[in-house]
Amino acid sequence: MSTPLIWLALDGVGHPADAPLGSPWQTELPTLRPFVDAGLALDATLGVPGLPQSATGQTCWLTGQDAVAAMHGHFGPQPGPTLRRMLDEASLPVRLAQTGRRAALLNFYPPGHFAAQQERPRHGCFPYSFLAAGLSLNPPGLPLLAPTLGLEYRAPWTTTDGLDDWRRRGEAVAAVRGYDLLVFDAWFSDLLGHEGRAPVPDGLQAAAGEYLRRLDALLEGLLEAGAALVLSSDHGNFEDLNVKSHTTARVPFAASGVSLNLPGGAQPTNVLEGGQVLQGLFGP
Ligand SMILES: [Zn+2]
Repeated sequence: MSTPLIWLALDGVGHPADAPLGSPWQTELPTLRPFVDAGLALDATLGVPGLPQSATGQTCWLTGQDAVAAMHGHFGPQPGPTLRRMLDEASLPVRLAQTGRRAALLNFYPPGHFAAQQERPRHGCFPYSFLAAGLSLNPPGLPLLAPTLGLEYRAPWTTTDGLDDWRRRGEAVAAVRGYDLLVFDAWFSDLLGHEGRAPVPDGLQAAAGEYLRRLDALLEGLLEAGAALVLSSDHGNFEDLNVKSHTTARVPFAASGVSLNLPGGAQPTNVLEGGQVLQGLFGP
């Protein structure tokens, strides 16, 4: 029974080193902050003007290929034909499925999601890649995670469960066997980031702090149960609640139990190389 690598793929979370004063990163996060601080801060712009976007950033992470060059710029939030082709051919879930290994997306999708997708299919890069690999959403028999991390979807983002629930979910995910890769597409941070403006709305600041505290509890549960895991992000946004838009902040890339280095031994400097590290963890 193989022990899976767990990939916490944050959406729109810039690195604390590039966050302004008053950022949600100033929340007390006894597990998450040291974990992120011990990792790397990666460039998400790839030297291309404009603000990094989810579809190109996530395709870099999922394929280790330069999605920004393929699109001649940053593109998102959902992948179009060019990026979908890249994900069809080279995304990690597809590659693992082709070589007889098992991957699963841990996100919980409510019934309304499937009705909406039937009317107008537009998956983000993560669900798209798992579907392209012939895998299902809401895979049975796994502890699934709500991407809102227990906050209500809309303002004032009231919490619906406690930190202990998230610690226990982390332990449950760490106890899964028989998989090579388990991914959590944690996109609610980008949604909260887009609510940003100056001055920062009170409710938003509190919700962002609660979101990180839940992520901290999830990570604590995972690490205490000995999980091998990586944490990444596609672009900045949430770390600066003074603005509605994405940012050019560097993004966190942190790990426990696996190396953050490229197959040749060098340290990655941007999200493209971050994706190459992940590809390298599963062999050539
Ligand atoms: Zn966004």
